[in-house]
Amino acid sequence: MQSKTQLTANEPILVDGIECPMCKEQIWSRYGHDFRRCPCKYCFVDGGRSYLRYGWGDKDIPQALWVKPLEIKIDATEEIRDYEEKARKAKEERDKKNEDRTWNR
Ligand SMILES: [Zn+2]
Repeated sequence: MQSKTQLTANEPILVDGIECPMCKEQIWSRYGHDFRRCPCKYCFVDGGRSYLRYGWGDKDIPQALWVKPLEIKIDATEEIRDYEEKARKAKEERDKKNEDRTWNR
């Protein structure tokens, strides 16, 4: 039997993110210090799941082009992929640190 807390593929999850008013791309930050820009580079998100930090390039723009936060529905497949990416990056950083230690000897 499957536990309810276990992630299953295609199960929708809601995350806090933003939609770019320029390119209409929806972006969200996966984890702390995961800084992401939309494809047209107009806006960004940061802060991961604990809080949502977001912003956009120009402050003197009409209000219609302000970025507004929204809940984005993603499915667990994406969530699992992100988790693996995070684990891989953490491992790379650990490996790099170990390498540095070796060189400094
Ligand atoms: Zn954009």
